[in-house]
Amino acid sequence: MPKQHDDCLFCSIAREGAYVHKGKGFVAINDINPIAPVHVLVIPERHVDTFREVESFDAKESKRMLEFVAETAEKVGLRDYRVVVNVGPSAGQSVFHLHWHILGGGPGSVEDVPSAVATAEVEEE
Ligand code: AMP
Ligand code: ZN
Repeated sequence: MPKQHDDCLFCSIAREGAYVHKGKGFVAINDINPIAPVHVLVIPERHVDTFREVESFDAKESKRMLEFVAETAEKVGLRDYRVVVNVGPSAGQSVFHLHWHILGGGPGSVEDVPSAVATAEVEEE
């Protein structure tokens, strides 16, 4: 198992969650509070706080992560979908372990899928 943080929710989910898809170094789970008919999270097993630190993945891992996002969407039956990564609290990030939101309106559709995750909760300065 790659480097993890003991007190991180997504590290424990990566170890023992109910996956919808699992690959080498990555898992995908259903979001507990979906904002679209299909809302899946792709989580690297290795703890990385945010997308800002994406450089800590080597070229092979980065490619595998992107491919895993696309494979997961296909696996859950989505052809058209939106992929979102919130980076930092004011962009809506609430769990500080890198994750990719896959949002779809059902097979072949993006109807009713919000254009951003949690932006409605971000207050204007
Ligand atoms: P973000 O706000 O981009 O950090 O996304 C965190 C996401 O994790 C939110 O969409 C939450 O609904 C979701 N979430 C929080 N706790 C859990 C959990 N135990 N299982 C699945 N999803 C969760
Ligand atoms: Zn973690």
